[in-house]
Amino acid sequence: MSELKPIIGLEVHCQLTNLRSKLFCSCSADYRGKPPNTNICPVCIGEPGSLPVLNREALISVLKVAIALKADISRFTYFSRKNYFYPDLPKNFQISQYDGAGGIPIARGGSIDIGGRIVRIRRIQLEEDPGRIVYEGTITSSTGLLMDYNRSGIALVEIVTEPDITSPREARVFLEKLRSLLEYIGVFDGSLEGAMRCDANISIPGGGRVEIKNISSFHDVEKALSFELARQKQRMVRGLGVIRETRHWDPRRRITVSLRVKEEEQDYRYFPEPDLPPIIVTDALIEEAERSMPILPYEKIDLYVSKYGLSRGLAEILVSSKDLSELYDKIVECYGKPGRVASWLIEDLLPLLDKLGVGVKDSKAKPEDIAYLLKSIDEGLIDRSRALSMLRSMVLEGSRPVIVFEHSLESRISLVELDRIISEVVEAEGKAFQDAIRNPKALNYLVGLVVKRCGGRADPREVYKLLSKKVREYRRSRR
Ligand SMILES: [Zn+2]
Repeated sequence: MSELKPIIGLEVHCQLTNLRSKLFCSCSADYRGKPPNTNICPVCIGEPGSLPVLNREALISVLKVAIALKADISRFTYFSRKNYFYPDLPKNFQISQYDGAGGIPIARGGSIDIGGRIVRIRRIQLEEDPGRIVYEGTITSSTGLLMDYNRSGIALVEIVTEPDITSPREARVFLEKLRSLLEYIGVFDGSLEGAMRCDANISIPGGGRVEIKNISSFHDVEKALSFELARQKQRMVRGLGVIRETRHWDPRRRITVSLRVKEEEQDYRYFPEPDLPPIIVTDALIEEAERSMPILPYEKIDLYVSKYGLSRGLAEILVSSKDLSELYDKIVECYGKPGRVASWLIEDLLPLLDKLGVGVKDSKAKPEDIAYLLKSIDEGLIDRSRALSMLRSMVLEGSRPVIVFEHSLESRISLVELDRIISEVVEAEGKAFQDAIRNPKALNYLVGLVVKRCGGRADPREVYKLLSKKVREYRRSRR
């Protein structure tokens, strides 16, 4: 079957979730959870006589997307009306950018590296989100539908790839990379319901191109494409052929179903939007976008490799999510040892989060507490399995690691024994003790030694107190 390798292209729509207002009006961009049809105004539902005004922040955000994808920014661009009738579109047209020959999207070109293979970007453009259709049941079985226009007019960036993707898995990897990139530059939050929607084109040699519409989650893209690939292969093998059509992904039944069969592209009668002036993208605008660009994932991977000596594979895992790499940076800041933090995060923290079903972002464990936990393991105060069980309550409840209660009261070291160990350590480490007399900070070194020798049965704070007392006594005796 290897000769039936699919050709896949994606059209990804991401809401610019960093914006406070919609694309062409001042309605709130925070539409989720509001009573239906309460977050609307004459502009976003297209009442006659209303005039759209471009949200400048949306333009800056989409320029950042173009820069991050290394695309060519058009210095002159304009909006077009895409005319079609559908209940989610009260104006009967969507303000978008013409995607046919001669159309000028905000940016063209660019690419994403999906692990050695390059997926080229064809087009990046800005458009408005339609309203939300609520079906009673599914799109194919529903006898009626409800409309909520609260989402109408939300800013979307549309990113269209060249047909460079060759498997459903690659499509998922591409989307994960894209999501991570958009989250890094702070224009997108993929955890918000419905923030990303995707149309996928897939064909196999000899068959017609099938478009799967409106797949509403990153995970479903791979599932929908896998189903469709198997369906197309089966039809080809049985000599039935694959017709060119638009299909719908039904996430509940996990199948694609035919929506409409079309020989030609729909005629949307595009024409330039008369109510909005063309956009001149000046140097100043591009500079403004560049100034607010943070370090990007591919730059961060290079940094981890060169500065921290991490392997590329390890660096890639850490950078795969913005939250994870930020957590990593903060722990390294508190604790040092970048290599140890990296392997600990990947071998211990991530599997635990996975098991608990908690995202890095939702974990309540504070970076400084994780650093403290790591130090405690280093000092032999606790072992790995005890650390993991502490980490569990840190993640779920945000509790602080309390190493003092590591052992029950009975198993804690007696004061007599502790005193003896302290004396032994002080005697053996004469130079360190002299240092501690001059500089109280140097005392921590001795505390560490004592605690280690007690095998975790001593409270570091108590050891510190006793050692300080010894220092004071020594000073007094020298007067
Ligand atoms: Zn509005």
